[in-house]
Order: sequence, then C-alpha cells, then structure tokens
Amino acid sequence: MKPLGPIPPGFEAIDGELAIGDTPVSDLVGRVGRTPLFVYSRERIARRFAELRAAMPGRLKINYAIKANSFAPLLEYVSSLADGLDIASGGELEMVRATGFHLSRVSFAGPGKRDEELEAAIAAGVTLNLESENEAERALAIAERLGETPRFAVRVNPDFELKGSGMKMGGGAKPFGVDAERVPALIQSIIAAGCDFRGLHIFTGSQALSVDAVIDMQAKVLDCADRLAREAGVILPKLNMGGGFGIPYFPGDEPLDIGAVGAALEDRFETLPETLSQAELFIELGRYLVGEAGVYLTRIVDRKDSYGETYLVTDGGLHHQLAASGNFGTVVRRNYPVAIASRFEAEPDEIVNVVGCLCTPLDRLADKAHLPRAQAGDIVAVFCAGAYGASASPSAFLGQGPAIEMLI
Ligand SMILES: *Cc1c(COP(=O)(O)O)cnc(C)c1O
Repeated sequence: MKPLGPIPPGFEAIDGELAIGDTPVSDLVGRVGRTPLFVYSRERIARRFAELRAAMPGRLKINYAIKANSFAPLLEYVSSLADGLDIASGGELEMVRATGFHLSRVSFAGPGKRDEELEAAIAAGVTLNLESENEAERALAIAERLGETPRFAVRVNPDFELKGSGMKMGGGAKPFGVDAERVPALIQSIIAAGCDFRGLHIFTGSQALSVDAVIDMQAKVLDCADRLAREAGVILPKLNMGGGFGIPYFPGDEPLDIGAVGAALEDRFETLPETLSQAELFIELGRYLVGEAGVYLTRIVDRKDSYGETYLVTDGGLHHQLAASGNFGTVVRRNYPVAIASRFEAEPDEIVNVVGCLCTPLDRLADKAHLPRAQAGDIVAVFCAGAYGASASPSAFLGQGPAIEMLI
C-alpha cells in the first residue's frame, strides 16, 4: 500500500457522496453532462484570501500569479480579491484584459518576452519585470517608438534560494532575472533612459511548506532589495517579494504556518530601511490561493485485474492532471489526495491503482491506494486540483481534449 496525500480540510459528504460547496458531485457532473470535470469553489478561494489577509501585515499586498489557473470565470473572481495580477505571457495579458482588471496593477515577468508582447504590455501600462539587460534595451526602443513612458521593474536573480522549494528559481545560474551584482547598474541605466521605475521583483521558488524556510527567504529578500537599492542610489517605490507558499499535496505534508510567517513579516516591517520605507510591498502567490479550491472529477470506465493487482481505469488522466500523475517537476512519484467521490463515506477495503485512459504507463492517478471498493460508473476525485491542473497539462495528447471547468 502507498499512502494518499491529505484531503484538504472541510470536504463533507452528502448522502454518502463527496460534496463541493453544498452540492454532491453527481449533481455537479449532471449539470455539465460529462466527466472529466474540474470544479473550483469560490467559497474556498474567498476563505483562503480572508485567512491570508488576517495573518499578514495590513501593509502587505497580495498578487495572484495567473499561470496557476487562468480559467476565465475563476480569474475574474480572483482578480476581485487580489491587489494585483502577475502574468508571464502576452496570452495571459489578453486573459487579464478580458476581465476588465486595471492593467496598471499587472506585472509581466518571464524570460523570452517577444517584441509584440513587450509592445502590448507597454501600451497597456503593464509593469515589465525585466529579465535581462537586452530585454531592457528592446523594451526601451519599443517604448520610444510608441511614445510611451514604460513602467519597469527589475527582476533579480538573487544569490540565495528558497530552501526546500519544489521548484527553485533563484540562486546560481538561471534563465530568470538579472544576476544581483548587475542589478544596480541596470537600475541606473533604465532610470537614466527615462522609464517609470517600479522597483524590484525577487522570486526565489515555489511550494515551500517550511515556515523557517519562508521566513528566512523573506528576510533575505528584504536585505537584498535594500542592498541593491542602496548601491543604485534609489528609494524603491515597490518590491515584489516573491511567494513560494506551498500547499500539502503528499502524505506527511503539513500546511504552512502562515500565522508565523505573518508575525515575522510584521516584525520586519517595523524596522524597514529607508530604501523600503515608502515601498508598496507585495507577495505573489498562485497555488496557495487556488490550489485547494479545486477538485478534479473523473469517472471509472473499467475495472480490471492484472497479475494480482486491480486497476480502476478512468476517463481522465495526465492530460488534465499532469502534476497528480507525477510528471510535472517531481522526482519520486507520490500520491496526491484521491478519493472515490461517489462513496466518500465508505471504508477503504482494497488496494487499487487508479489510472487514466491514456495509452502510456505514465498515466497514473494513484498507486496502490487503499480505497473503498469501486466499479465502473463510480466517480474519482483528485484534490488539490485548482492550480497547475487544466492550465499545465497536455490536453491535446492522444486526442483527448480538455476537461470541462466550472466555478461554483
Ligand atoms: C509560477 C510563479 C509564481 C506562482 O508560483 P506558485 O507556486 O503557484 O505560488 C509566482 N511568481 C512567479 C515569478 C512564478 O514564476
């Protein structure tokens, strides 16, 4: 047997079935007429924002990194709760534009921004988080041609990383950001070129559950920003401190203690150096805001045995849930939280493998899981499906097409 990840708290059964909000999953599936289906809960997202705001210093602003989930109704809802949005492509800019969100509160990071993307962002008043000196030059030339004053922040590749992070994005050679030691000179040159300087962006990694690692990272980010600003001789109007707040996906994972993170930050904010005392301070989060608000529902199509093991074959799989299959940045495959949604209250009584319908051995949703006995027709729930599910999976693979998405 292999353990399953922890089901996020607060999911209840109605008449023996998993309910999301107050609605049993069979009703949700009935509304759209088919599986696979992603269901995202407004109520869960709202609660998550409220808890986070209560834990963090009032001064701290919260941005949503839309790459976690850009389903239009969800994006529109989250943008009503977030202080700003972080995008990483021209395509995401168009998604944000469609929500009517104020584009002056959007920042655009990401290496390899094309000229058309730079142009669209500058024309819209979006802040560009510059990833290189070359990008700064290209963006300045485009702004000049457009007759616009571009809003620039500099993304720093810091000389430290987020410890224990699932995906490291700082520390050593990286395609992201400008190496810290070259940042002061770049700040000076873009200011001299007449940009509207919007400060720094320092993102060091994702999916941290260790409170010590997050507190340590945030302290280093503030120190680093201060040092670079002093070297450049500027006061920072804004600092995006990155994010990295993780959620429990796997057996043994414990939720991040945001109360402790908030208290440490509160302390730091009381003694900010002059370079940061006027700055708008942001964190940027993706999965923490929406990950646990989503459930992926897929129906069992076949139940079969092979050499002593049982397989529940579903109509979903890695083409919608690459991360749950273990193929999105994980080294050792572990089980996500998975349940038989249509028998949510039944006792586990067999060890089964839950797999997808794709003709590849990579397509696994749960290995050797202890679950209630289920048959063809039963619905499987994969939790923690609100981030990097639909937006980060190869839905065209094997001609399967996308899952339905629904915000309730
Ligand atoms: C992906 C990304 C995020 C969001 O990461 P999560 O782990 O979903 O919180 C935030 N900022 C940047 C720069 C990113 O690339």
